[in-house]
Amino acid sequence: MHKKSSQSSTSYEILKRCGEGSYGVVHKARHPITKRIVAIKTVQAPKNGYPRSCLREVYLLKRMNHVNLPKLYDVICEDRQVHIVMEYFDMDLYSYMKQSGRPGMTLGHIKLCSSKSFLHQILSGLEYCHSHGIIHRDLKPQNLLIRMNGRLCITDFGLSRPFGIPLRAYTPKIATLRYKAPELLLSRHCCFYSLGVDMWGVGCILAEMMLLHPLFSPTSELDQLLSIFKMFGTPNASLWPGYPRMDFYNVHYPVWSKKDLRQCFLKRSGFDMSLTTMHLLELMMVYDPGDRITAKQAMLHPFFYDDETILVWE
Ligand code: ADP
Ligand code: MG
Repeated sequence: MHKKSSQSSTSYEILKRCGEGSYGVVHKARHPITKRIVAIKTVQAPKNGYPRSCLREVYLLKRMNHVNLPKLYDVICEDRQVHIVMEYFDMDLYSYMKQSGRPGMTLGHIKLCSSKSFLHQILSGLEYCHSHGIIHRDLKPQNLLIRMNGRLCITDFGLSRPFGIPLRAYTPKIATLRYKAPELLLSRHCCFYSLGVDMWGVGCILAEMMLLHPLFSPTSELDQLLSIFKMFGTPNASLWPGYPRMDFYNVHYPVWSKKDLRQCFLKRSGFDMSLTTMHLLELMMVYDPGDRITAKQAMLHPFFYDDETILVWE
């Protein structure tokens, strides 16, 4: 496919469509003069201005500069469309996981290599966001881009927002259901939450990299909440002091005890997770958001320093 996009100042050569999300369509394109390969995310703008998610994304991409976040090259507003021109990546983590199991590597090896290297890069990009006052709020494999050389970037800042101290109440209507933290599922209206929502999402992604399947496949918000309870045990006030004050706290929820994650994973995917991996995963899935491990702390976890495997992908 070789058609020209309709930009006025520069005309990029559109090479292929490489993705679509809830807000934008993304194409791989080439600059006609510099030959630079880029990704162009096109978002439709309604008559009365530009979508807030798009303004947010451009503002944040412009402000941030980190190896695990995509570079923003240009923004072109035209014909009620916003084209965000940014660094191109080969695929997202969701597509990568769907096609892993390549010859020459056992599945377990791929899972270990990928999870170590990718997880470290996710945490590094996230630590940068968090230390610059930004909560991503929609971490999931579709929003993690990878290069064939193993580099990973966090993308899609459409739902992100800056946070300040003291914390303010924000909407719980964020994140994709299966990556949604319990404090969001238990809140009806605006609630106080913070960076912990991203760390819960990272935990779900780590589990998914090992299972090569989502940790949860919920049919509703309640189903997601109960699936979490079933796996990690039903919370209580001693485990999570803020729990009884949540909007959807209910004394009638069934009481489940915590499952043995290692056995669970072995049964579901045949993957024998090491004790270090399980320890890190459990620190990410702590109920009390205030006690959940931070991105900075997670990068120092022994998971990254035991030499079960090398950190190189390919
Ligand atoms: P939305 O806000 O609509 O979810 P995203 O920014 O997540 O849009 O982009 C949608 C999809 O497009 C992603 O899941 C990914 O597959 C692909 N994509 C996004 N950005 C890039 C990029 N820079 N390079 C390659 N593919 C991309
Ligand atoms: Mg997306």
